[in-house]
Amino acid sequence: MVGSALDAKLASVLGGRTATAFEKAFGIRTAADLLSHYPRRYAKRGELSALDELPLDENVTIIAEVREVRERSMKARRGTILEVRITDGKGFLTLTFFNQAWRAKMLVPGMRGIFAGKVTAYRGALQLAHPDYELFDPWDDDLGHATPSPAAIRWAESPIPIYPATSTLASWQIAKSIELVLDGLGPVADPVPPAVRAERGLVDYRAALEGVHRPKRDADWRAGQHALRFQEAFVLQAALLQQRAANRSWNATPRTPVAGGFLERFDRQLPFALTGDQQLVGEEIARDLAGTHPMNRLIQGEVGSGKTLVALRAMLAVADSGGQAALLAPTEVLAAQHLRSLVRVLGPNLAAELMPTLITGQLPVAERRKALLRTVGGQARIVVGTHALLGESVTFYDLGLVVVDEQHRFGVDQREALRQKGTTPPHVLVLTATPIPRTVAMTVFGDLDISTISELPAGRKGIETFVVPLAEKPDWINRVWARVSEELEKGHQAFVVCPAIEPAPAGASGGPAGTGGVREDDDVDPDAEAGAPQRPLTTVVQLTAELRAHPLLAGRRVEGLHGRMSSDEKDELMRGFAAGRIDVLVATTVIEVGVDVPNASTMVVMDAERFGVSQLHQLRGRVGRGGVPGLCLLVTGAEESSLGRERVDAVASTLDGFELAQADLELRREGDVLGSSQSGGRSSLRLLRVVRDTDVIEAAREQASGILDADPSLSEHPELAAAIARRLDESTRTFLAKA
Ligand code: ADP
Ligand code: MG
Repeated sequence: MVGSALDAKLASVLGGRTATAFEKAFGIRTAADLLSHYPRRYAKRGELSALDELPLDENVTIIAEVREVRERSMKARRGTILEVRITDGKGFLTLTFFNQAWRAKMLVPGMRGIFAGKVTAYRGALQLAHPDYELFDPWDDDLGHATPSPAAIRWAESPIPIYPATSTLASWQIAKSIELVLDGLGPVADPVPPAVRAERGLVDYRAALEGVHRPKRDADWRAGQHALRFQEAFVLQAALLQQRAANRSWNATPRTPVAGGFLERFDRQLPFALTGDQQLVGEEIARDLAGTHPMNRLIQGEVGSGKTLVALRAMLAVADSGGQAALLAPTEVLAAQHLRSLVRVLGPNLAAELMPTLITGQLPVAERRKALLRTVGGQARIVVGTHALLGESVTFYDLGLVVVDEQHRFGVDQREALRQKGTTPPHVLVLTATPIPRTVAMTVFGDLDISTISELPAGRKGIETFVVPLAEKPDWINRVWARVSEELEKGHQAFVVCPAIEPAPAGASGGPAGTGGVREDDDVDPDAEAGAPQRPLTTVVQLTAELRAHPLLAGRRVEGLHGRMSSDEKDELMRGFAAGRIDVLVATTVIEVGVDVPNASTMVVMDAERFGVSQLHQLRGRVGRGGVPGLCLLVTGAEESSLGRERVDAVASTLDGFELAQADLELRREGDVLGSSQSGGRSSLRLLRVVRDTDVIEAAREQASGILDADPSLSEHPELAAAIARRLDESTRTFLAKA
């Protein structure tokens, strides 16, 4: 059977104890899992420094033997220091570890290993604090000795794979296990067909595995990585394309508008003309909806480009066919707001007939019952809600379309759950204002078709963005409130966004982030936090009080809004702001997505460096939506050229969401690009980097698509089918492990 050797359980190859250790440490279960535990780097003896000539303040790598290990308690603080004396026969050096006494179990006298770190001086002696290290196999006696044995020579010349290791599984133990598996493996089936390999100059799977795990020279692991990286992209793209084909093979009920029906009436009463892009995308959707297979389409477009309107027209086409549509929003506030604006846009007659209905977790029991009845009875043609809509108690009469607003808060699995709610799979439309660079789209949403709305409705006045750099110009903050007051003078309204809700209670200074503020869950971009100096955060509660007392804002109504309030309170405030009764709304990012108040001209973001690029871009998109020009002031205390400041500057430098998305990717780590809930198998991307490997991903998609076109069931490519199955199995496990 193809791939059977790769699918062997680790226990059968390495024994139960080792297998358990691998499962615990890395979730590794099969031979294939272990073989894709790739070295994180390769060390070479040539790079090594001698202990008697270590340069101060430089990063060094040394091979040495542990001579002496001492644990002592610290004088000034609680805790212990582990001091490890090492020698290479010529010089000595001390390694220090704070509060890591457990390391003494492995760092025993006589052990040899490779140590890497920055040389510092402490009381006149050289040391490495918290070095990286890998211990050698204690049974391989030749290693590191002065008299060169054949093994030592081989070792001296070949790159040493350094594996991601843990306190229970050292790099050398991992290497040993991998050798065992490789030796017993026999021939391995290659998911990449020979013709594709030849065309791209790739070594075969077996050679690639040997190259990365047992390289004789650098060229070996380079060629190995090159081939494995392509294989990763190739299997992933084949899996996504196959999924897409499978979606298309399901039956769905065609949904077509009828003459004189809801859609036609709606279009007739629309006070403006559709933009060209809205028209084009509308046609694409209409074609999908009329088909007998479920639509799976992502619409991306800038905030305010009119995506919601396009989605509403799709819902009306479904209503015309007698079906229902569900609109999923990421928060209760947004769901409620969607409902209000749908009712407004539909006008009284259509709204009465279509009965747009809200279902959220916080609805009072009686109201919820009524809403559920209308939904199951089919009177509610449009149902709006949060993920509460996914709950078991919600049943539809005839669900024909699911619209997911702001996909980034909804994962593949949630889309799937909702899909199950139709008698036949409903059509699915996903809306996102977060522009998605092409490769990410191919990788994360490879199973969706993508439409783009890039044209903004006419009459948009644009947005001006300014950075207010308090680090250099502290008194510019006064100018901010002066500008806000000028805007209010013109009859406009302003948002002020803060990263925290209220000041931390006195004495509770050491919260997880130590930033001294109570925060909205999930509110601040975690990446934005890294390395940011600890300044107290501006809070909604404090700033609301300050602005109410501010002489420039005398007589203005200033209100605070945050996630700690009940949904009734939040709703009431949003309504008040939308109706113009509130002049300045001080809020957390609860207002990030979808809030639509055309009269709001100004967006002030406090501590802007605390937010991510796309978050800032989204916030900015809240203003300049009506006929009034927008003004966005990004207030930051971050130093010039700090990473946080770079992000803020990037946002100020362009209004082009695509350009920003690219900048954002470059400032981020990979995991966040894919987002575990969206990748459906993040763990399967090992060597591939979505940003760096654009070319590889595109080439792989093309090759995979050619193969699937000619052989949709992959019956002639069993190796590829097996690799896809393996990948699915792995992502299912990852998913289950999280559940
Ligand atoms: P998005 O969902 O992309 O943020 P919306 O569909 O909510 O955008 O539209 C934003 C605003 O622009 C709404 O007030 C909407 O009524 C209005 N709008 C939508 N399409 C047009 C158009 N073609 N011309 C003028 N205004 C439009
Ligand atoms: Mg919208």
